[in-house]
Amino acid sequence: MVAPANATEEFTVPSHDEVLAALRAGYRAIDDGYGFYPGFNGWLESLGYRRRDDIDCTCPDGGYRGHLPECRWVRP
Ligand SMILES: [Zn+2]
Repeated sequence: MVAPANATEEFTVPSHDEVLAALRAGYRAIDDGYGFYPGFNGWLESLGYRRRDDIDCTCPDGGYRGHLPECRWVRP
């Protein structure tokens, strides 16, 4: 069995508290008229996270019940 090329890559996913804060930022952005994702993504970016489309899903259940907003958001 051959491991994927990124299997040994080290990165940090947002903590539970960071995700909750980002969700709140997203809801505030809705109230401000910007929409959820600009607020949510902007919050995570301000913490140094970046969304990576080239890595596997980072959801705890592998996306079984749908991908979370913080899916693939990682910090090197
Ligand atoms: Zn996912």
